[in-house]
Amino acid sequence: MTPTPQCPDLEVLFIELEAGEGPALDHAADCALCSAMLEEHRQLEKDLYRLADPLPPPTLVANVMARVATEPTPLRRELWSGVPILIASLAVGLGLLITNDRALSRLGAALASLFTDGKALLQGLASGANALWLTAAGPVAVLLVLLLIVSLTGLKRLVGTGPNPSEA
Ligand SMILES: [Zn+2]
Repeated sequence: MTPTPQCPDLEVLFIELEAGEGPALDHAADCALCSAMLEEHRQLEKDLYRLADPLPPPTLVANVMARVATEPTPLRRELWSGVPILIASLAVGLGLLITNDRALSRLGAALASLFTDGKALLQGLASGANALWLTAAGPVAVLLVLLLIVSLTGLKRLVGTGPNPSEA
């Protein structure tokens, strides 16, 4: 199809489109060629708006929520199960060390002998290790390390399976 002599100039047509009324626009309503031209212009304008619009599409929130719902290990549940373990292990360890005077005094004596009596260096080391093993401090230390490893493993797994922003 080629523009007929009755068809208005495109520039006039688009000016009247902006204005919302005019003889060229009235003609376009009945002319297939001009209607097609206007429709093409509308689509182009829509694409330009979409490019210039920084706002995400209205379906984004729904898509994100659906994605979160299908995640096998929700971030919050993993986090909330890890935090009490860390707090409990720290509290138990600190509580036992503070309330166990025997362990602290033996450890202090062993350390003091290291600095005051050079000849008792090896003895001091041995008794210090003994004090730790004989009291609860040793098992507690092992327990603390185990709990820490469990917590760190959980956090590492969390990072590994967490949603990757670059894949969105
Ligand atoms: Zn026309």
